[in-house]
Amino acid sequence: MWLPLHIGIDDTDSTRMGCTTYIASLLIEKITKRDGVFLDYPTLIRLNPNVPWKTRGNGAICLRIRIHADRIDHVIEDTIEIVKVNSDLDNKKTDPGIVFFWGERIPREFSYFSLKTKQDIVKKDEALKLVKKYKAKAFSFKYGRGIIGALAAVGETLTADHTYELISYRIKRNRGTPRKLDDASVFRMDKEMKGLTFNNVDYEKRGILITPRGPDPIFLGIRGESADAVKRAFRLLKIQEEIERWVIFRTNQGTDAHLRTIKNINLVQSYHSVIVNGTLTRNPISIPGRHVIFTIADENKSIDCAAYEPTGKFRNIIRALIIGDIVQVYGGVRPRSEKIPMTINLEKIKIIRLIPKILMRNPICKFCKKHMGSMGKEKGFRCKKCGARERKAKKIQVQIKRNISTGLYIPPPRANRHLTKPLSRYGLEKTFYNNSPSDFWGKESIHLSFLS
Ligand code: ATP
Repeated sequence: MWLPLHIGIDDTDSTRMGCTTYIASLLIEKITKRDGVFLDYPTLIRLNPNVPWKTRGNGAICLRIRIHADRIDHVIEDTIEIVKVNSDLDNKKTDPGIVFFWGERIPREFSYFSLKTKQDIVKKDEALKLVKKYKAKAFSFKYGRGIIGALAAVGETLTADHTYELISYRIKRNRGTPRKLDDASVFRMDKEMKGLTFNNVDYEKRGILITPRGPDPIFLGIRGESADAVKRAFRLLKIQEEIERWVIFRTNQGTDAHLRTIKNINLVQSYHSVIVNGTLTRNPISIPGRHVIFTIADENKSIDCAAYEPTGKFRNIIRALIIGDIVQVYGGVRPRSEKIPMTINLEKIKIIRLIPKILMRNPICKFCKKHMGSMGKEKGFRCKKCGARERKAKKIQVQIKRNISTGLYIPPPRANRHLTKPLSRYGLEKTFYNNSPSDFWGKESIHLSFLS
């Protein structure tokens, strides 16, 4: 008898070592050897990006397989062993969790739990109750907070919008050394794969974004609209070091799955990611660190919004806003601290209405058509050129051209969160998924020909 088995894993790594997706890649090989059949691509699910205890991108993974009943126990043992050996268990903050669930259909309550884990803060107990109710099995190491993410990954079936990421991994001896990749080949690939891949490079700083910086096993990750696209993009790169393996994940990255529309500012809560409308009630100001802050309000409440330094030229758009402009802001909500009020950290902004910008200027000379100079408070004006005086003249209102227009603005890709939908994906949103996975991982170093 063959049974469907869903395996969720989270919280295995630290900034020092490891990566939950790498654990998935090792387990994929093991499951293949046990003749497991993959029902879906492995999934990489990004959860609430505002969770304070996340390591990096708050990602959890799920593998969905069909396996012979005789081999289920082996797969469970393999999973626990691989997680144990490859997790950074010495790290104070690493709390691995694994969830196994048998079933043709994912319970609705798992999906709700998953949605909540993307948008809110949840408790481990909520996860454990569901595990018990649906006769799933949870394993944990240490405090086991990872059970939250593991169950959330099982609950997210990605039937609506989704993207793909091909992640390739480094051989052991190269980890911790600079990654050897020809940058120019990434720019070429980005051009060739336009519309099919996203966030490969940052044109503002002319940097490549597909390679991480840390000592983790990831060599690079290419994000795109289909498994074929990311694989094609991978082959276009000039990689100058040996690759241990690669895997294509189906993900919720670049889908805005974390954001939810809130009706009023007084409903905005800490650690949520919100979309909310308001009118500027305080002009943008720059604060130390070159961050830009402004305030919006609706009938009941006001809230600060921040565009941070890494958002680069996006801040020029923000700086051009003035009191009275109507905007829709998108972002994660930072809780209020002793010195800083609750703030929406901007991920995007939609400018809905720009009000006319009016300045008071000195009147214009009848003869020279130039602005006159003031002769002192309520003493009138005098033309500097011809000397004409106008004792009764008053300042005039002048409408200044606004240097921005209405529309949606998003910071450059280097400052985007994993979940943030980039401009290039608008219009490409998927509404269903009915494929089966094929050829989604490999160990062969398909770029060896480029090695020097
Ligand atoms: P990486 O991206 O490198 O895999 P990470 O950023 O995913 O690391 P984790 O080490 O997985 O970070 O830590 C996140 C922890 O927070 C996990 O234990 C996960 O179960 C838990 N978690 C995730 N989302 C929520 C949430 N919404 N509420 C409460 N806990 C959460």
